[in-house]
Amino acid sequence: MKHLIDPTDLTRAETDEIVALGEAMFANPAAYAETMRHRKLGTLFYEPSTRTRLSFTAAMMELGGNVLGFADATNASVAKGESVGDTARVISCFADILAIRHPVEGAPFEASMTSLVPVINAGDGSHNHPTQTLTDLITIQKELGRLDHLTVGCCGDLRYGRTVHSLIKAMARYEGVRFVLISPEELRLPEDFRREVCEKGGIACREVTSIEEAISDLDVLYMTRVQKERFPSQEEYERVKDCFVLDAAKMALAKERMAVLHPLPRVNEIAVEVDADPRAAYFRQVEYGKFVRMALITKLLEWKDRDTPSHRGLFSDATLRCTNPKCITNADPRTPRRFRRQPDGTLVCACCDAKAASLK
Ligand SMILES: [Zn+2]
Repeated sequence: MKHLIDPTDLTRAETDEIVALGEAMFANPAAYAETMRHRKLGTLFYEPSTRTRLSFTAAMMELGGNVLGFADATNASVAKGESVGDTARVISCFADILAIRHPVEGAPFEASMTSLVPVINAGDGSHNHPTQTLTDLITIQKELGRLDHLTVGCCGDLRYGRTVHSLIKAMARYEGVRFVLISPEELRLPEDFRREVCEKGGIACREVTSIEEAISDLDVLYMTRVQKERFPSQEEYERVKDCFVLDAAKMALAKERMAVLHPLPRVNEIAVEVDADPRAAYFRQVEYGKFVRMALITKLLEWKDRDTPSHRGLFSDATLRCTNPKCITNADPRTPRRFRRQPDGTLVCACCDAKAASLK
């Protein structure tokens, strides 16, 4: 069965197929309006994430299907202490496909181990959010007509920003993509991530500390929030914060054809005056997100005989534990501990990809 737990569960070719189908659905939604008739999407949302849940719900409704599930865990059977694995197994008896959102890392993986139907990870803590990445890809494709030979600027919190990390990994699979990393010193892309993805993959990555230095080179500007809490002091934050706010004056330096993306919600990192600029793609991005979820649901149901890369090579070892305190294997000790060996020999937790350590 094909699940989407980690962005790498989709090959480049599969990703392209989903993006292309999303575009076709966008161009002619009426042709797909009945394709999921009598099919049901189960939404297991253990934390409120209204926009992601509504995007999935709207996607299934556009295809003529139905939706069932829960929008927060307080009044679900999980409040009685049911494990994620059991809940997924039970709801998979009622639905054809599941979308799961959980604050604990690795919960969607655990759900995919017990579910009888395909599982989509709709976000697990700061770990993965693959449908946001698909949304970003279809937006770039729609706005610029291609995913290769682009200069992509990533601005804001590159240290903790999950959406940026996934986007960089996904875009690094396309030819001729270059990145410009725009962040304050405190929020630079982690060194090991940079080495792994950019240097090993031979991808050009340039680091700058203001939007002005880079904006004239960019085809895509991916904006993210710079949160005050990430800085050691209020003064530090005040000193740098305006360098990472996009406004009309900075847009005036950009190419005529550029797309500004943002995973939303925005706080103040894009001035409202930018919204009227035709290059501001962040609200269209929300709309494309619905179409790419429609395509994903359709393809996962079609690809039932394909396997899930994150399920490959798993083994149990009672002497090992996961080192990530936010992992479901630590949050709920009933969760089976499974591991996999990385190409470089290190052992990692199958749920959350963190390093494994000896129990002793
Ligand atoms: Zn783990």
